[in-house]
Amino acid sequence: MGRSFNHQFMPTWSEDAGSLKAEGATVFALCQLGGCPTRTVDLDRVIAKQGPRFSFWDRRPACPKPGCDGWVTFMTIRPGGSWQIQMNDAPPGAAEVLHQRWKASLPADVRDKLPLAPMLSASGKYLVLACGECGVGPVYAGAVQAAVWRGMSTDQVLETMRAQCRGAGCSLAADLVDGGLVPEDDR
Ligand SMILES: [Zn+2]
Ligand SMILES: [Zn+2]
Repeated sequence: MGRSFNHQFMPTWSEDAGSLKAEGATVFALCQLGGCPTRTVDLDRVIAKQGPRFSFWDRRPACPKPGCDGWVTFMTIRPGGSWQIQMNDAPPGAAEVLHQRWKASLPADVRDKLPLAPMLSASGKYLVLACGECGVGPVYAGAVQAAVWRGMSTDQVLETMRAQCRGAGCSLAADLVDGGLVPEDDR
């Protein structure tokens, strides 16, 4: 028998800041050491700073109170909700999918330095590569194809592929696109 009964139920509306906001939910931050005030999280501020895909599940940031060595976990309740959902101890692997989906939503200059394959597999997005100079692409790579670049970031993939490109003025570029924008034959 597993320990699955110990894991929290993860409703869709609790998955990320944008969904919590749309649901009208309230998010609280609690220090695990006690004695620190429970804070209400400003969702608008989190969304402005991190984007709507930011997830609170299984995050344990340091307590912001000066001098406190504790860490914070998050809980939420939606309007009319009869119980609070502790957003820790997510089902195995579930929070990681949310965190990877968030990473895939970050601005390209940040996102392209992070490992590519897990982002693609969590978000359903594809990497599209093209070089006008060399007549390459567009070439699409989804989670399955990207598995060969294990551990590599988009920037590292680009660097490797540029070395294989023909043109002296190679302009190979990459972006992440939604699966729906990928031609059916390339999925
Ligand atoms: Zn504290
Ligand atoms: Zn090129």
